[in-house]
Amino acid sequence: NRQWILRKRPQGEIAPGDLEFTEAPIRPLEDGEVLVRNIYLSLDPTNRIWMSDQDQYLPPVEIGEVMRGGTIGVVEASRSDRYKGGEIVNAGLSGWQSYTIAQGASLSPVPVIPGVPLTAFMSVLGATGLTAWFGMMDIGRPQPGETVVVSAAAGAVGSIAGQIAKLKGARVIGIAGGPDKCRWLTDELGFDGAIDYKNEDVGAALDRLCPNGVDVDFENVGGKIMNQVVSRMNNFGRVSLCGMISTYNAEGPVPGLDDFAAILMKRLTIKGFIIIDYLPRAGEAFAELAPWVMGGQLKWKAHVVEGLENAATAVQRLFTGDHDGKLLIRVSAE
Ligand code: NDP
Repeated sequence: NRQWILRKRPQGEIAPGDLEFTEAPIRPLEDGEVLVRNIYLSLDPTNRIWMSDQDQYLPPVEIGEVMRGGTIGVVEASRSDRYKGGEIVNAGLSGWQSYTIAQGASLSPVPVIPGVPLTAFMSVLGATGLTAWFGMMDIGRPQPGETVVVSAAAGAVGSIAGQIAKLKGARVIGIAGGPDKCRWLTDELGFDGAIDYKNEDVGAALDRLCPNGVDVDFENVGGKIMNQVVSRMNNFGRVSLCGMISTYNAEGPVPGLDDFAAILMKRLTIKGFIIIDYLPRAGEAFAELAPWVMGGQLKWKAHVVEGLENAATAVQRLFTGDHDGKLLIRVSAE
């Protein structure tokens, strides 16, 4: 079994030697267990959080453990009456490895929908889509005509979150890095405007594109970008705090809001959320997401990097923006 083991907690960016690519024998199955050959591994900004020992929403990955990560795979052998060989399953947070041994009860089947590729279940119809849907619909709650700003808007979660707000009748402005990503937002996803934070003054662009202020901030970035958006919020605005990727490589405490008093004066709601807590309600999101995907109203992209051996370098792409859509590793053939 080929595996990535966490050897050291990264200081700043993930560096060579923090993770080690190794090989271990696969033990025989016990009663109730299933052997899954992983096909796709999800690479996520939160991988960097799990590598650290800061306070977080799951236990940190321990030194010497297989790196945590979500996978979809195919059942190769089964001693569980729930699954038989050849079935495609979601193996949960099975880890950065070629094979997973899991209790049959801990797996979930992946539906086969004609015309919908397996990669969709690792993105728009997986945790990514659920994150966008619950963050927007449960917390942001955009009303027709309101102004919604999405940061990391051309990324996996942000691109879906922004499209959901558009489908609900809001005006949507995206913040993304580089002209190509910004063009994709306005020309193909129908965003009302896009701000290239790498080449533009974000505050001035927000003033131009959000003349009536901001009602909903779907926040993926944190730091300076978050402050620019929150300082333009309207009374009773909502901040759906999904992520703070600009801070994940930081050592030590990170700055928060410049103007904390604005929460009181403008009666803002700022709510952080983690998608794991919403999984029991996943059906509510699928009921809207699946028809939108099948009907072509919701567009999405996957960026597939070949080979598990490339996971430790590929994960950096999330921090440089050098990827186009949900970042996945193809661990083995479908
Ligand atoms: P993305 O596909 O959006 O990739 C990350 C993107 O973040 C990059 O493409 C880059 O976009 C942008 N970025 C990286 N560093 C910076 C920076 N310093 N300043 C501005 N932008 C930056 O990844 P995901 O969609 O998987 O994740 C997006 C966010 O959602 C993350 O914050 C993540 O932690 C969060 N998340 C939260 C979940 C939850 O349950 N709360 C679940 C899943 C994700 P660009 O090229 O435009 O610069």
